[in-house]
Amino acid sequence: MNLLLHICCAPCSTATIEAWRLEAVELTGVFFNPNIHPYAEHQRRYDTLLAYASKTDLPLIGEPLYDVTAWLRQVHGQEKKGVRCRVCIAERLRHTAGLAAAAGFEAFSTTLLISPWQEHEIIREEGERAAAEAGVEFRYRDLRPQYRHGVDLAKEAGLYRQIYCGCIFSEAEAALAREKRRPANKPKVALERAQRRLSNKPDRSRKA
Ligand code: SF4
Repeated sequence: MNLLLHICCAPCSTATIEAWRLEAVELTGVFFNPNIHPYAEHQRRYDTLLAYASKTDLPLIGEPLYDVTAWLRQVHGQEKKGVRCRVCIAERLRHTAGLAAAAGFEAFSTTLLISPWQEHEIIREEGERAAAEAGVEFRYRDLRPQYRHGVDLAKEAGLYRQIYCGCIFSEAEAALAREKRRPANKPKVALERAQRRLSNKPDRSRKA
């Protein structure tokens, strides 16, 4: 069978590609992640995938479309973690399902399924919804047990591994979590900045 795989980033693709190929699935990848902030980070993840796809003979289709304004408008008023994630995941899977149907793939799936940080029920529900709308099958697998193996493969391949999920909110949340883990005697400047970003208060400690 041939399957269009939505790829969120190269590190999550490593063990995912391996798992589908073990089932003799013929894979093609698509990078569509307008949620990633800022643009330079989006490009860095895309470039990493381009190099890895070439190394693993994975064909890619589609353009890595990026419209930060449209993405922020979609999650406006729904910024809470989980709520915004459903919007974010639904958009990426809808786009992948549409491409899969138009290009004649038998099914589609996503590398998000390997991440222990993602909510699987949301991915499954939104994948099935997108599948019904586009008329192409969504293939669900719980690949989380392969996550550590994927990290090892990514390290082995020297891939860039990001430290936050993708959107501006997740960047601030990850920074906040790191600062909370920091020993008490270390400065808390970054913590205060992250808290301000999450509460939408201006950062007066920075010069314009
Ligand atoms: S945390 Fe990740 S899944 Fe959730 S909205 Fe941000 S980028 Fe999307």
